[in-house]
Formats: sequence, structure tokens, C-alpha cells
Amino acid sequence: MRIGIDLGGTNIVVGIVTNEGDIVLKKSTPTLASRSSLVIIEDMVNLIYKTLEVSNISIDDIELIGIGVPGLVDYKSGIIKECVNLGWKNVDICKILKEKTGKRIFIENDANAAAGGEYLFGTMKNHLNSVFLTLGTGVGGGIILNGKLYRGKNGAAAEIGHMTVGENFYNCACGNNGCFETFTSATGIIKYAKKLINENPQDTLILKKVNGLDQIDAKIIFDSAKQGDKLANLVVERFVKYFSIGICNILNILDVTMIGIGGGVSAAGEFFMELLLNDIKKHKLFKEIPVCYIKIATLGNDAGIIGAAMLDKL
Ligand SMILES: [Zn+2]
Repeated sequence: MRIGIDLGGTNIVVGIVTNEGDIVLKKSTPTLASRSSLVIIEDMVNLIYKTLEVSNISIDDIELIGIGVPGLVDYKSGIIKECVNLGWKNVDICKILKEKTGKRIFIENDANAAAGGEYLFGTMKNHLNSVFLTLGTGVGGGIILNGKLYRGKNGAAAEIGHMTVGENFYNCACGNNGCFETFTSATGIIKYAKKLINENPQDTLILKKVNGLDQIDAKIIFDSAKQGDKLANLVVERFVKYFSIGICNILNILDVTMIGIGGGVSAAGEFFMELLLNDIKKHKLFKEIPVCYIKIATLGNDAGIIGAAMLDKL
């Protein structure tokens, strides 16, 4: 048995995971991120023991604890270098957790951990060279090379969301313009739909489904496009165009056999997948090479917890 933890800006989720990658039980608590790192880590420790108690499992039966962190980590020293969501810098989380639990503690960037989960037990299984993209509020990425997570020199590799793929009408949260995530995240899709609606007020199904622009989400946009709405289809076309540019870049650099797509936006995969594959076929460099597998991830929100619990294998 192992423990995988997802340390999010909104919630901390602790999961007990079997060696076969199945989650026995998950429990969560609000992060309340404005509090100090020490208090939040204390909550994490309490949640670990609470989850064990409810599952009737002793800490002695736990092999290791792994944590996925939304930021830059030094996986070797176990220090969280920077985590903007939580306002943390240089937090030695592994030392504290080791003292409180007596276990081996591993940390990794959350998208990397999710990539590891999908590689070991999900859609990327057996794809020794593969890439995971998670399209949610932002876009996270993880790269598996030769069966191992590719972390780079500083643990900063696979920030695929911040690859520049064009020029956009708004800047990325990182300060640059044209980042992949500003075109393909749920946030980017919603912003573009709102821009079109504001510029050119027209009859769109999107407006019939909401009371005010603030209620527009990615699902409403994709559903409206599916129903043939013109404006929603313009949004989807743009999304597909830049998604395809990003994937062609990844393939040109890494020539992987599989790209797994997770996150909230992937729920619309059935609708956009064919459009995406057709666009990639048109723009990829070597036309005679078939497009790699591009598949919707299968582990959903659990990928990060499962991957975190398996960090010794990644
Ligand atoms: Zn960026």
C-alpha cells in the first residue's frame, strides 16, 4: 500500500493506493491557501491519519507517501521551490512529513505525477515515450521518455502550457504572450467566446444557456458547437487550430508514440478529436509517418494521486 496526495490550491486530497494502482479510499480537506505552509502541512498529516483510520489500515503497512504539487519542486532534495497558487517558496515539505510519519516521502510537479499515473495504469500504459497534457484552468504537461519521467535539470521540464504557439489577444498569467494554454485551456476557450460575443453581439445558443457571461463554461461552448451554433464553432475551430500546432511541435521534437489528454476540456474529446486529428495530418512535418495515438486519459482526477503514490517507479 502507498499514499498519494494531491496538494491543490483549493483542496488537499489524500488517497490510499494499492501497488496495482487502485485507490482504496480518498479523503479531502480544503487547502485554505492563505494560511501558512506549516499549518497546511499539519492539516495534510491529520488527513493522512484520518484516511488510514477510516480504511482500517496501519501506517506500518504504507510503503511510501508521494505528493503532487502545483509548482516547481526539487524532487531530489524534497523541497518545494516555488508554488504561486499557495504563495510558497522553498518549503521543505518532505522533511516535515518524514518526521511526522516515519515514511519515505516523494514530491513531484502535479502534472508530471498525473503523467506518471496515466503511464503506469492509464491510457499511456506501455508507451515508453509519451506525453500527457491536461487541459483545465491552465494546461499542464508531463513527458515520459524511455519509461521514466523527464524532469530536466531543474525539474522545470514539460511546461508545455507555456510553449509559445501564436499571438493571443491577452497575456498569459506567466507574463508572456501566445502561450499554448491561453489558446487551449478552459480559461482560454471561455475568454475567446466572451470576446466574440462582446465584439459582435449575435444570436448564439451560448447566451440562451446562461444568465450573464460569467456563467459561460467550456462545456456550454462545446455543447453549443455540437448543436451547430456558429459562434461556438468559431471558438472550437480556433481551439483545434492551436491545439494542433502545439501537438505538431511536440511531435517534431519528441516523436512520441502516444499523447494522452486529460483535464476538464478532454470531456469534449469525442467532439473535437476527429477535427484535431485531421488538422494534425495537414500540418505535420513528415506526411508519410502516421500520427501517434492521441487518446483521452482514463484515470480522470485520480491520475495525480495514483502517479504520486508511484513516484519511486518514475
Ligand atoms: Zn505562459
